[in-house]
This record gives sequence, C-alpha cells and structure tokens, in this order.
Amino acid sequence: HAKHEGRNNYQLYMPDINARAHSRVALAKDLQSALESGDLHLQFQPQLDLTSGRTVSFEALLRWRHPQHGMLARQTFIRLAEETGLIIPIGAWVLEIACQTCFSWQQFHSGPLQVAVNLSPRQFRQPDLAGGIAAILERTGLSPPSLEVEITEGLLIEDMDSALKTLQSLSTLGVRISVDDFGTGHSSLTYLKHLPLDSIKIDRSFIHDIPEEIESRAITKAIIALGHSLNLEVVAEGVETQEQFLYLQEYGCDRVQGYFISKPLNAPRAQKWWQEKG
Ligand code: C2E
Ligand code: MG
Ligand code: MG
Ligand code: MG
Repeated sequence: HAKHEGRNNYQLYMPDINARAHSRVALAKDLQSALESGDLHLQFQPQLDLTSGRTVSFEALLRWRHPQHGMLARQTFIRLAEETGLIIPIGAWVLEIACQTCFSWQQFHSGPLQVAVNLSPRQFRQPDLAGGIAAILERTGLSPPSLEVEITEGLLIEDMDSALKTLQSLSTLGVRISVDDFGTGHSSLTYLKHLPLDSIKIDRSFIHDIPEEIESRAITKAIIALGHSLNLEVVAEGVETQEQFLYLQEYGCDRVQGYFISKPLNAPRAQKWWQEKG
C-alpha cells in the first residue's frame, strides 16, 4: 500500500518540477517587478530576552505574495534572487523597510528595540556595504546599535580577509553582527577570535532535538558556554516547545526566538506585540 502511495506521489510531483523549470525565467522577471508593485513585504518574528522576559528584537523575514501563485517558498525565491543578482536591490529594500519600521515602533514605547536583518552572501560582498547601510540609517533615523545584521558562517570561509574588512567597517559604524545558523557551516572556530561579532544564533536543528537527544543537548550547552566565554550574546532559534524554552533558560541562553513565543507577524501585529510585550 505504501509503495502504491509513493508512486502516486512521485507521478504527481513530476509535472510540478517541469512547470517550475519552465517558469524560472518568468519568475525572475516577476520578482523584479514585485519590488515596484509592492508584492514583497516583511514579517517580524519576536526575539525574547530570557532575563527580562521582554521582547527586545524582531527578525525581519522577507515574503513574496505572487499575484498568480500566491505566497512563494522562501528558500526558492531567495535563492533565485541571489543567483540573478536581484538580491542587491531587494536586500537594500529589506534593510530600508526594516530600519524605517523599527524606528517608527521605537517612538511608541521606551524599551530597547532592535531589528535583525539577514544578509545574503552576494549582498555581503557588494562594495561599500557599510556605506550603504550608513546611508539607510541616516535616512530612516535608526541608531546603528538598533540594527543587527545576520550573516552565515559560509561567508567567512570563502574570503576571510575581505569578510573581516567588511565586518570591521560595520562594527565601526556601530551595527551589531550576528552569526546565523551557528554550528552548521563547516567552518573552523578560528574566525570567532578575529571577527567583531556580537551574537551567535544556535541553529534550529540542534534546538529541535532538545531536550530528548543527548548529542543536541551537549552541543547546545557547549555553544552557550563558548559564546559566553567569548563575550557573545547567545540566541536560540526555532524554539517550538515549553521544554526547549525551559532548557535554554536553565542553561543561560540569552535570547529565544521561535513558534513557542510567536510565529513571524505582519507589521501591524508585530507593533501591537511590541507595545504589549516590549
Ligand atoms: P533564518 O534567518 O534562519 O530565519 C529563521 C527561519 O526559521 C524563518 O524562516 C522563520 O520563519 C523560521 N522559524 C522561526 N521560528 C521557527 C520555529 O519555531 N520552527 C521552525 N521550524 N521554523 C521557525 P523563513 O522566513 O522561511 O526564512 C528562511 C530563510 O530565508 C531565513 O532563515 C533566511 O536565511 C532567509 N531569509 C529570510 N528573509 C530574508 C531576507 O530578507 N534576506 C535574505 N538574504 N535572506 C532571508
Ligand atoms: Mg536569520
Ligand atoms: Mg537561522
Ligand atoms: Mg536557517
């Protein structure tokens, strides 16, 4: 029976793959116009500080509602944007809207509030990234420490020297720097010594298996200890259950983010959340 079902699934899947291959070029065109037509938007996922119990940051996450195909899978269109270079204007738009939004929320409530923005490899390697970000901060009024950029370890192994230069200029600007998906990037830990980092985000694949799995528990505890001994803030992403939440609290993780706290929210709902829980 299972075999029969499996074959049906396979047959159902094939036309979809072909359709997607055919529409790749069309999709890239649509993505370009999505920027102008307002089909891109951001959602904001709260990040909770475990000491104060308050929301202190939101991660900005890009969404694309396609006029015909509806909401598109992130991994697909972000990869497409990266490959076509569209990530440069899209990434600039994300930064601008995220900073603008965070600044406007800061006017409602006096607590500390940051916004975290993901930077793709191509975006990270563009010339004068820090200058571009400085201009966005200037325009939107957001103070540099209110912005956190999230990068992945992969960026650091490709060209450590130029990555170091870019990170130093961001750090000089006063922007916070976080390593996303920490522990999955096949990179050496040497970079932690040299780079001006502020925080690391434990990848959700580890969080997923705590507290049940001994290895994930060991890795999670070790990352928290490593981060703290290097004076880095440690964030856990993908926290889905109360057990995970309590475990992270017990072991001194600084911040948590995940469905257990809240799914990513649209801007009005995130603002309301912030006014109540910030
Ligand atoms: P990420 O930066 O690691 O973002 C966290 C992802 O985990 C988000 O997926 C979020 O919706 C999801 N998530 C949050 N809490 C939970 C949870 O409790 N359980 C599970 N299973 N998932 C959770 P999303 O929004 O689909 O984004 C996927 C990835 O796409 C992001 O991973 C990031 O690498 C990339 N991305 C998103 N927005 C942007 C952007 O504006 N620019 C760039 N360059 N990349 C982006
Ligand atoms: Mg991220
Ligand atoms: Mg992540
Ligand atoms: Mg991820």
